[in-house]
Amino acid sequence: MFRPGLSRFTRFRGRRARFEHDRESADAIRARLRRLCHTARKMGVGTTRQLTEALQRQGVDLDLPRLAGLAALLEGPSRPLAPDLFPANMSADAVRLAERTLDGTLAIADFGHFAHRVTNFFAYARENRHGALADYIPELTRQNPDAFGLALCSLDGQRLRLGDAETPFCLQSVVKPLNYALALALNGEGLVHRHVGREPSGRRFNELALDPDNRPHNPMINAGAIMCAALIRPSQAAAARAELVRRFVASAAGGRACGFDEIVYRSEAEHATHNLSLVKLMDEHDAFPEGTDTATALDLYFRTCALTLDCDGLATVAAMLANGGVCPLTGHRVVDGRIVRNTLSLMLTCGMYDYSGEYAFTVGLPAKSGVSGGLMIVVPGVAGFALWSPRLDRQGNSVRGVEFSRRLVEDYPFHIFAGVATD
Ligand code: GLN
Repeated sequence: MFRPGLSRFTRFRGRRARFEHDRESADAIRARLRRLCHTARKMGVGTTRQLTEALQRQGVDLDLPRLAGLAALLEGPSRPLAPDLFPANMSADAVRLAERTLDGTLAIADFGHFAHRVTNFFAYARENRHGALADYIPELTRQNPDAFGLALCSLDGQRLRLGDAETPFCLQSVVKPLNYALALALNGEGLVHRHVGREPSGRRFNELALDPDNRPHNPMINAGAIMCAALIRPSQAAAARAELVRRFVASAAGGRACGFDEIVYRSEAEHATHNLSLVKLMDEHDAFPEGTDTATALDLYFRTCALTLDCDGLATVAAMLANGGVCPLTGHRVVDGRIVRNTLSLMLTCGMYDYSGEYAFTVGLPAKSGVSGGLMIVVPGVAGFALWSPRLDRQGNSVRGVEFSRRLVEDYPFHIFAGVATD
């Protein structure tokens, strides 16, 4: 029997998208602050230093942009907590975060324990040295095969970084859901899906094949991603379009640096034969919108594949998707909820190359992998994960990324249908 309220999800707050933070009156915020100080004292959290430690134990760092005014106070010398200590411009959101930290209702309630388990899964996956580096362009063979990073970001901005979590890598296909989301935001669903389907292709990600309506099967394979690139501000110059995508990715990552790997980009452009054939195939079948400059669309696609982020930034992107389009670090809406729903649906059915069906079955989470070994995993209503480990399996997915995913859902009820299996 399906009993949503009684499932093991109760250990995790969430399972509902949070939306932009509503404003509260100054009086209401003051009242919250009085309650906060009262609860804190009862729990033995009597000073600003102790409140900082309580936040940090739950994975909330003072650099969280949403904490703003509160962080400025907490960074100063330790003082006894009192309502009039807090700056007048405190946001209700910052106070609520502190409240939820103390009453144990953050998205990941027992962060310490969760972080400990995730660290164990990370260590377990690290033992796996199977797989091989992608070698279709020389640049990717230069990646360190042993590199391994993991980052986690919850809906409340609780964060964990392990291993090489702060080493940037190029996104490759991990950028595809973002290009799709941006194409939707700019053009609407009707136009986008006149030109790209939403059916798993059952073929290789770069297979020369179109669906029965002569559209690429979906936005998560190369043909579909090139089509999405074609739909991003087609009337503008290539550089402006590339910059728009870069800024979009950076805002999805909570304002973290999103770089560009010029060498990878050039390498892609020099080894473009196969992707050029895809463009030609689509062109022959009139798949592109009329007047599309296909060479520029392909160029833009290569540029987006060469964008770089670290796991920390990518986990924030995944968490923004898990949060219905609002970035958990900044509280800003990046895309609307309907776009996120569409994007997650396609990540679930098409995000893991020819392993997508298996992954949806065994792991049951929307995810997207790329040939550089990156993987983002979305746990809707709870958190986002990002992994980077360049050794790939036969399907082109990061071996350790898949290994980690399996371990995660063995221990936690994150599979989207886990709720029906609780007894
Ligand atoms: N740039 C790569 C390509 O077009 C991206 C492929 C991938 O990550 N699957 O082949």
